[in-house]
Amino acid sequence: MVGKTDVLILGGGITGTAIARDLGLRGLDTIVVERGRLADGATGNMHGLLHSGARYAVADPDSARDCIEENRTLRNIANHCLDETGGYFVQLPEDDESYFERSKKACLDCGIDVESVFAEEIREEHPYLSSETERAFRVPDAVIHPFPLTVANAVDVREHGGTVETHAEVVDVLVEDGTVAGAEVRHREASKTETIRAEHVVNATGAWAESAGAMAGIDIPMRPSKGVMVVVDFPSLDTVVNRCRPAADGDIVLPHENTAIIGTTSVEIDNPDDYTKAQWEEDLMIEEASKTIPDISTARVVRSYWGVRPLFGGTAADFEDGRAQTRDFVLLDHGERDDRPGMTTIVGGKLTTYRQMAETVSDHVCSELGVSEPCRTATEPLPGRDDPDELRDALDEFGPLPPAEELASDVIRD
Ligand SMILES: Cc1cc2nc3c(=O)[nH]c(=O)nc-3n(C[C@H](O)[C@H](O)[C@H](O)COP(=O)(O)OP(=O)(O)OC[C@H]3O[C@@H](n4cnc5c(N)ncnc54)[C@H](O)[C@@H]3O)c2cc1C
Repeated sequence: MVGKTDVLILGGGITGTAIARDLGLRGLDTIVVERGRLADGATGNMHGLLHSGARYAVADPDSARDCIEENRTLRNIANHCLDETGGYFVQLPEDDESYFERSKKACLDCGIDVESVFAEEIREEHPYLSSETERAFRVPDAVIHPFPLTVANAVDVREHGGTVETHAEVVDVLVEDGTVAGAEVRHREASKTETIRAEHVVNATGAWAESAGAMAGIDIPMRPSKGVMVVVDFPSLDTVVNRCRPAADGDIVLPHENTAIIGTTSVEIDNPDDYTKAQWEEDLMIEEASKTIPDISTARVVRSYWGVRPLFGGTAADFEDGRAQTRDFVLLDHGERDDRPGMTTIVGGKLTTYRQMAETVSDHVCSELGVSEPCRTATEPLPGRDDPDELRDALDEFGPLPPAEELASDVIRD
């Protein structure tokens, strides 16, 4: 069996589905192949913060600017996939006072709205915060639901003539005369293997990008990093609580239905399919989060889940600005980098900036294929924004819910 398309996209996380949506809106035919269910990788196992950018404002202002821009865009095109909780950065006695001031100023420099709040005010509004809270500032953080967001992108792919195939694993990449020409895909349902030929292949397999690259004879050194999220009963939590200090383990707590989700850690691993899930990581989450919200120490732990960040570990030559290991995304043009045209890899990034990543990749693919249609994803609403019914069947079809959404059964469905 042989299929054919303009662009074959490997990986059905938020990145792969959003690239297919972007290209579909520009008139290209696409096929997404995902080895498991949609959002089976980092996307369905992430924390759920739609960053305002405040977390990065001091250390990485470019990322912070990208976050606030995309945060505003998603409120417009995908407000059905997020909860407008707002967020606070809170200072405890042991935190560096000057960091608080630097953070606030850096946010303003990056165009992020901040509103200072005195300790008495914030504790009156959110009494679960520690009595030791010294001061805080409010930022436009929100909670994002990655599964309906990914499904909404997939629905739009189909509406524009594309195909999204789950339980379809890429087992080989076709290389003809030094050029990537498609892939061999094994379908679980019919236990059959299909050849899909394509004008261009995009490798959006996240933490698994190294394996997919190896199938094309390309070296893509990844340094995957695991992180834990711990879910506890906490019905009163109604906003995002960030500890105001340089990014550290367990310093963000998100409201999710009747629970709080505490995250996270960052520990480098070798294999995204086989790594240790350590008790110390879970304990550390409770210990750290209890400093800002003391009642978390006695709250019932509902469950924990782990995700793996698709961090790229390439050499300095792979990065435009020479940084080795970044949380920004990296586009690898394999024609230029490896003399292996026909394939592009995208790795890294954050869910908050997924649309911008997809736009960058799609611009690149379009220029390779001689297509001059502009990107429309920043203004075209995602399916379901104006009519939740549009997503209902697709949520069931692509379900069950991944770990990051297990409690969000009424997201979109109500
Ligand atoms: C612990 C943690 C917390 C995070 N928290 C946040 C947060 O709060 N806010 C935020 O903005 N970002 C957050 N992120 C980052 C965000 O989740 C990721 O950047 C994003 O989800 C990456 O999406 P992706 O599609 O590139 O990768 P993935 O979602 O990993 O998708 C890659 C897909 O490729 C598939 N695949 C692999 N190999 C093959 C193959 N051979 N054939 C077919 N398919 C294949 C996988 O099954 C997978 O579904 C977090 C990440 C982690 C790990």
